[in-house]
Amino acid sequence: MSPTVAELLERNRQLAATHEPFPTFSEMSDAGKSPAKIAIVTCIDPRSNPDRFLGLNPGDALVIRNVCGHIAPILNDIAALDVFIGLSDIMVVHHTDCGASHFNDSLIRDGLKKRFPSNEDVDTMSFGAITNIEQSVKDDLTILKKSPLISKELGERSVGFVYDIKSGLLTAVEG
Ligand SMILES: [Zn+2]
Repeated sequence: MSPTVAELLERNRQLAATHEPFPTFSEMSDAGKSPAKIAIVTCIDPRSNPDRFLGLNPGDALVIRNVCGHIAPILNDIAALDVFIGLSDIMVVHHTDCGASHFNDSLIRDGLKKRFPSNEDVDTMSFGAITNIEQSVKDDLTILKKSPLISKELGERSVGFVYDIKSGLLTAVEG
């Protein structure tokens, strides 16, 4: 069973007792260290955790997660990060058995219309549902490569993968 918020807060108090302070941006700058420059975009699903499947240590990469790991909802973030720190690469990682392949957008739209019948915006909204994992990775790479907010160089250094939740392996998907 999932822990309660109160139980999570208790874990935080215990973990903070042995917390090693992270450097601030100015402390990193003084020490000649640069912030992470690889962005990893993946799903919020707890099974698709890049800290685990890539063995990330703090400071290794910038992880952005949303439903499925889609680019469109976080394109502003990517553009801002690239201006602010200069991204070197983008990894788009979708995973097998993603929840986004178990619902479709009309199901979510119908549910929202029941809750908010007078909201007409819902009719034109999409919610990231997918039918094919490899194709969804390709489609998100295409959004990156075609975006007027992403440099051609960064678009070319954007790579896609499917993470297999059973084998733990990443398989490259050509964009
Ligand atoms: Zn998922």
